Amino acid sequence: MPQHIVYVGMEDYPRNIMEFERRFASEEACKRYLFQIRWPNGFRCPRCEHQKAWETGQGLYYCTNCKYKTSVTAGTIFQDTSKPLQVWFRAMWYVTNQKQGVSALGLQRTLGLGSYRTAWSWLHKLRCAMVRPGRDRLFGIIEVDEAYIGGPESGKRGRGAAGKALVVIAAQKDGKRIGRIRLKHVPDASAKSLNDAVKNSIEPNSIVCTDDWNGYNQLSKLGYNHNVIRKASGVGKNLLPSANIVISLLKRWLLGIHQGAVKISFLDYYLDEFTFRFNRRNSRSRGKLFYRLVQQAADVEHISIKDISSERPNTEPLYMV
Ligand SMILES: [Zn+2]
Repeated sequence: MPQHIVYVGMEDYPRNIMEFERRFASEEACKRYLFQIRWPNGFRCPRCEHQKAWETGQGLYYCTNCKYKTSVTAGTIFQDTSKPLQVWFRAMWYVTNQKQGVSALGLQRTLGLGSYRTAWSWLHKLRCAMVRPGRDRLFGIIEVDEAYIGGPESGKRGRGAAGKALVVIAAQKDGKRIGRIRLKHVPDASAKSLNDAVKNSIEPNSIVCTDDWNGYNQLSKLGYNHNVIRKASGVGKNLLPSANIVISLLKRWLLGIHQGAVKISFLDYYLDEFTFRFNRRNSRSRGKLFYRLVQQAADVEHISIKDISSERPNTEPLYMV
């Protein structure tokens, strides 16, 4: 007999590895946890929003209204995985508990995964999950600057150079400290690219501090209180200390975790991971970080390895930070 499902979710997560091991000792426990996170107010049909379903023996949910069949992993980054959720949960625990992040090789060894490629694609999927879909923009006093990743600083703006990528850094000021950040990989330092990056990262009416590069000239028109800090020189050399700290931490992190070997086509993933970690750097509970990651993994549309691989041209050289 199929059972009628009524589950009520709540925000809870393991505090330490002992609790984690106890909590997720079975595949069923992982599924239950994912269910609570996906449907905290009880099942909701992805097609018709109906709230009643029958659970079939294969762990599928069968909408009593539109007859749509779904599973707890459908439409999440765990869709179509051939590995148990238990392994995925361990991967997420490991990734969130290593403060500086992990490499694909580290993940492969820790979980005993058969292939490096699996570990590599899992890390990319998890990075996708680190960006909350429709996440909020920064508000308040924000420093904005750009910096080149890869190669020595040329001091010149405008066109990007081969083997380098330009990243826009938005760092929110929180008293004397740095609040949250947003990072955006842009094609160049033109007004169009910079306007898009700012609009994407910062709420209008915020105070946006930049140097006097003319690419920022239109920020007032876009509804920001633009505060131009003069005496600016080349890229990365100006009076925007918060943004500069962030960029140096980012460069150090790319060097440390990834040995500086980051391909340009993957830079966005790394920027997302860095942002996720940076914005939660003061979080006391690593368990809560794990919880956020599971929550976001359940929220992100399924990404296939093919999607990721298609962004990886084999001819692309290693990209040195
Ligand atoms: Zn339905």
